[in-house]
Amino acid sequence: MKYFSLNNKAHQVNFETAVVQGLAPDKGLYFPEQIPTLDPSFIENLHDYSDHEIGYKVISPFIGSEIPEEALRKIVADTLSFQFPIQKVTGHTYALELFHGPTLAFKDVGARFMAGCLGYFRRNSKDPVTVLVATSGDTGGAVASGFYNVPGVEVVILYPSKKVSVLQEKQLTTLGKNIHALEIQGTFDDCQKLVKTAFLDQELQQHRPLTSANSINVARWLPQMFYYFLAYKQMKAAHPNLVFSVPSGNFGNICAGMMAAAMGLPVSHFVASTNVNDTIPRFMQNGEYTPHKAVPTLSNAMDVADPSNFVRILELFNNSLPSLQQKLSSYSFTDKETSRTMEQVWKENHYMLDPHGAVGFLGLQKYLQYSPELTGVFLETAHPVKFEDTAPRSIREEIYTPAKVMSLYHKEKQSTLLSTDYITFKNWLMR
Ligand SMILES: *Cc1c(COP(=O)(O)O)cnc(C)c1O
Repeated sequence: MKYFSLNNKAHQVNFETAVVQGLAPDKGLYFPEQIPTLDPSFIENLHDYSDHEIGYKVISPFIGSEIPEEALRKIVADTLSFQFPIQKVTGHTYALELFHGPTLAFKDVGARFMAGCLGYFRRNSKDPVTVLVATSGDTGGAVASGFYNVPGVEVVILYPSKKVSVLQEKQLTTLGKNIHALEIQGTFDDCQKLVKTAFLDQELQQHRPLTSANSINVARWLPQMFYYFLAYKQMKAAHPNLVFSVPSGNFGNICAGMMAAAMGLPVSHFVASTNVNDTIPRFMQNGEYTPHKAVPTLSNAMDVADPSNFVRILELFNNSLPSLQQKLSSYSFTDKETSRTMEQVWKENHYMLDPHGAVGFLGLQKYLQYSPELTGVFLETAHPVKFEDTAPRSIREEIYTPAKVMSLYHKEKQSTLLSTDYITFKNWLMR
């Protein structure tokens, strides 16, 4: 499969180049040259296939012969190595739980798949490649866990000192081996600036080839399609016309769902649910794309003002707002609504939401008001324990702590404390 840059359709590369580069040299996002369609009988009989078989059938047309079947099946099996259960929450709303992976957030799937692909492409090279990422919390943990022990890949994660939760810091700093955590005495923006400067530094790149693992990479974006097929497999018998509500920040996850629909998965409608960072809900109303400055919220993994993947959604709909509106609605919710919903759903339905899932739940309820005959699934993207510190007091005690989190608290932090000075950071990388 070839991928083109959304800034210039004539610039085409293969899957490997798209994965290794992340972003095209003209700063465009890569997009597949054609959208493969799946055999309708496969979709009709999804329940007869294992999760691994579904994953392989869905992703393999996007890769073609660049990764041989046996190696790709192994990458898919390593990626889908945990459960994606559906839980009924109210009469016609269901939660698709994506937090049963190693770092309790849905980003585990994309990170593990990308690690598998990069590990495959680097399998015969002598010099390791360094994956460099700045994180405000969730991405770093998923990348650290996904790339742990992958031969030929070193990982350097920059995080802002004292600005990630205790649990998130443990996820970043306790693995060791090929995972290095740099604790930067500054903000997330300082971390990001150091990473950006490093990518432009020729001398550094000669010494140590760098690549990024951020969410615009096609190998992190496309495997997220699996969620929608796995949900449909579990729901189809009773509910063939589903609505999906996706708590959205950079819009990578929902864009993968819309790609799944373009491949032939029957989906009635998508709802992009956001916090008060509402660039897309406003765009869907009036067609004007006018980002404001990002505002911090309880659902902080979605505090994004200028969602990078939205251009991919527009491309799927040939940049036509009216046809996009047929398939997508988008609503925004305040922190107050989010907290109140977490309390209410616990009280009435005995289901514990995290703040991101709560936004997804709210978006689904709003859409189903107008179409009560439909059934909806919202994506629960993180385990509530990850956001325990900010959960409403009345329910905080009720949040369940999984055993794998308990053991993490006892592991020792290994990190290197650095200032925000670029030369110090570069010297550390050049050592
Ligand atoms: C990253 C993240 C999101 C947003 O996903 P996008 O693909 O960026 O829209 C939602 N919830 C959680 C918990 C996340 O970590």
